[in-house]
Amino acid sequence: MRKFAKNAAEFQAALYALNTAITTKLKPEMTDWWIAYHIRNEYSDFFRAALPYMRTILEEKQIPQQDAKAIEIAMREINQKARGANASRTPKGLVSWFNKNLPKFQLLLAADQWPARNTTSDLIKVGNFSVHNTVGLSAEEFKFVSSIVEQASQLLSSKFASVLYGDVYVVGQLQDRNAAAWYEYKSDKVYIRLYDRSRALHDLLHELSHRYYRKFTDAHAQRAWQTYHMRLHARMPAMAVQLLRETDLKNETHLEFGDDVYIVKSQAESLLTLTKMKKSTGKTKEMIVDKSSFFTIVARYRATTALFTSQYASTNPEEHFCDSVADFVLNKLNQEQQEALTTIFNL
Ligand SMILES: [Zn+2]
Repeated sequence: MRKFAKNAAEFQAALYALNTAITTKLKPEMTDWWIAYHIRNEYSDFFRAALPYMRTILEEKQIPQQDAKAIEIAMREINQKARGANASRTPKGLVSWFNKNLPKFQLLLAADQWPARNTTSDLIKVGNFSVHNTVGLSAEEFKFVSSIVEQASQLLSSKFASVLYGDVYVVGQLQDRNAAAWYEYKSDKVYIRLYDRSRALHDLLHELSHRYYRKFTDAHAQRAWQTYHMRLHARMPAMAVQLLRETDLKNETHLEFGDDVYIVKSQAESLLTLTKMKKSTGKTKEMIVDKSSFFTIVARYRATTALFTSQYASTNPEEHFCDSVADFVLNKLNQEQQEALTTIFNL
C-alpha cells in the first residue's frame, strides 16, 4: 500500500504541475512546437508519474464498476500519448487533448478512495494461478477467463508445468490496440485483455511461453533456436516465388492477412480494386493496388506463415518460440515445426 500512496502523490503533483504550466506559460499564438518546448519538463514528468501510477491502480485497487469505462479511456489516452512522448515527437494538439481529458485524469486521483483488491470476488484461484479481475468484468466473463486459464493449465501440464503459477491480470483495452496480452518479465506477471474470445486461449499460452523462454530455457537451446529461426528466414523468398508460381491468385476473391481481409472487387490488366476489412472491428477501406506487387506480398505472407506458424512469429526468435509452443500444445504445428521445437528444447 505504501507504493500506492507514493505513486498517487507523484501523479497528483505531476498533473498539477502540467496543468499549471499550460495555464501560465502558454500564449494563444504559440505553435505546437513552441508549446512542446515551453512545457517539455512538465509534459515528460506527467507520463513518468502516470504510467507507474496506472499500473499500481490495476494491481492494488478495485475499480468501481460505474467508473470503469472512464478510467479505461483515461489510461488508454495516457498510454497512447506516452508512446509519442518517449519518441520525443511534437505532441500535436497537446493542450486540447489535456483539457479534454482532465476530468478523467482527475478521476484517477480518486483511486485512493477505492477499496483495495483483496480476496473478494475479483480474485479467483485456478490451480496455482491467481486470476485478477481489474476491469469490472461480469461474473460470466470472469468465469470465461477462468475456464481459459484452466484449459491452458491442462494443455501445458505435461511439458511446460514449470510456468503454471502466479498472477494473471485481466485488464481493459489499455495498451496498443494490437496487444491482446503481454508478459512483463520484470514482475513475472501476465496481462490479458478479453477482446476476442476466440484468441484468448492462444494468447494466454503465448504469454506463458514467454515465461518459459525467459526462465526455463538455457542459452545453448536459445542459440540453436535462433539459428533455426534465421534458416527459415533464408528459405522464405524462394518459397514465396514457388507459391506464386503454383497458386492461381487471380481467381481468389478473399485474401487474408491475419486480422485483415482483402476482397477483390475488380481486376484490370495490372491493377486490382480491393476492399480491405478488419475482422476485429468490421471497418472497411477501398483501395487500388498494383496487381503483381500485391500478389507478391500475398505469396510472401503465405510463405512466412507456413514456415513460422504465423507472421508475428517471424519477427524474432522469442516470439517465434511462443507462437510455436502455443500451436504445439494445440496440435497445430506441422511435422517439421514440431520436430524442430521438441528437438532443440528437448521436450
Ligand atoms: Zn509475445
